[in-house]
Amino acid sequence: MRVVVVGGGIGGLALGAGLRGRGFEVSVFDRDTDVTATGGYHITLDDRAQSALAELVEPKIMQRLLASGSALRLRERDAFWDRRGRLLGRGPDLSGSGSVDVDRITLRTLLAEAVGDDLHLGRAVSGVSADGPQVLFSDGAPISADLVVGADGAHSVVARHLAGGPTNRPAGIIGFSGRTLRRDLSQPEQQRLRSRSGTAIAPHGAALYVGFLDPVGNAALDAPELRMSVTTGPTYIWGAMLPESAATGALRTLRGGELQAAILAAFRKRRWAEHTLEVIAKADPQSVAAFRFNAASTRAADLAPWPAGRITALGDAVHATPPTAGMGAGAAIRDAASLVRHLSEDGSTAAVGRFEAEMRQRGSEVLTLAMKTVRWILATDTGFGAAATAAATPVLAAAVRLRR
Ligand SMILES: Cc1cc2nc3c(=O)[nH]c(=O)nc-3n(C[C@H](O)[C@H](O)[C@H](O)COP(=O)(O)OP(=O)(O)OC[C@H]3O[C@@H](n4cnc5c(N)ncnc54)[C@H](O)[C@@H]3O)c2cc1C
Repeated sequence: MRVVVVGGGIGGLALGAGLRGRGFEVSVFDRDTDVTATGGYHITLDDRAQSALAELVEPKIMQRLLASGSALRLRERDAFWDRRGRLLGRGPDLSGSGSVDVDRITLRTLLAEAVGDDLHLGRAVSGVSADGPQVLFSDGAPISADLVVGADGAHSVVARHLAGGPTNRPAGIIGFSGRTLRRDLSQPEQQRLRSRSGTAIAPHGAALYVGFLDPVGNAALDAPELRMSVTTGPTYIWGAMLPESAATGALRTLRGGELQAAILAAFRKRRWAEHTLEVIAKADPQSVAAFRFNAASTRAADLAPWPAGRITALGDAVHATPPTAGMGAGAAIRDAASLVRHLSEDGSTAAVGRFEAEMRQRGSEVLTLAMKTVRWILATDTGFGAAATAAATPVLAAAVRLRR
């Protein structure tokens, strides 16, 4: 059976690796010319995502991934702050967590290695045709397959063909991400942020997630000889969020230091304390990027709204998920494992149908979690929400101080 995968991101490469391992003839096409030219942020892989990955790649790749990942169990509990940096509460105990955070570049590089010469870079797909089915390229002859899988992300041409239109829409938030070395922060900020992740929320839809990543000090697998993390010391990978508007949308056209300055100005305008913005101010300007959150429907019945056939899709192409639950990439990997499992039973349309049924449930589950946070952030941008947040946060902060 010949499978053509459109998109060599997290889901497409995981699928390519799994199919190759089971003896399928597979080709993965991506428009990128370099797999390391991907977002510089980190990806959280929970137990389910790691189990799925272990089905798809060789044990050696898993070991290198874990040796390059930062274990959540070695981190302090997450923190919640207000815009003045006051502690409002803490998340659950992570000592029993099996999740790891890994650089997206490292994950994609390892997956690309597992796909080997079945990955074809610099190949932009312009469309698909049900006749064959065939994959059409902007710069070359079409290729036929027994099954075409669209793993081409939130703006998927394959899923759009199948659904007859977009499979997701803007979620109402513009996100900004960047990387900041812990040693570049002032001592007081290092002490406040500590070796934990946290989120600050405030009125008017502004939120700041600060993720702690240390694949060296907090390695999930103590095997330095296998380590290939891009992050080599304690680092904060942050994600700032603002409601989408003409003004915040325009920030997406900016890059580097200019974008960084504009993000800082937007948070200062919302009266965030200067020290809480140090993590943004001290970021490597080259790491700062802006992106729009896109989200598919949270209802399973709305996802993959097409009859099973010889063209399908997975990952963000079907269930585009905002990063607010840290589960989008994990879900794409689990989709890939499910498709490999079903195709290994039999290569029929029914197998594709069983995979799609599972994917609808999975997509709905992760989207429901991610959208909870999106709605919460957006609620602080209403008149009532802004007033309630402004009134509640000092009370919560005082309660935390009293408990100490
Ligand atoms: C800031 C941020 C933080 C995140 N954090 C997490 C996290 O902690 N945990 C988590 O699980 N998820 C996280 N996510 C989400 C996660 O990155 C995505 O859900 C995940 O990458 C989806 O995988 P995918 O394979 O479906 O799509 P992608 O990884 O987006 O891959 C799609 C690929 O298709 C290629 N492509 C697109 N169109 C074409 C075309 N026409 N021709 C050829 N190639 C094409 C692209 O080049 C790309 O390589 C985060 C996302 C962001 C933006």
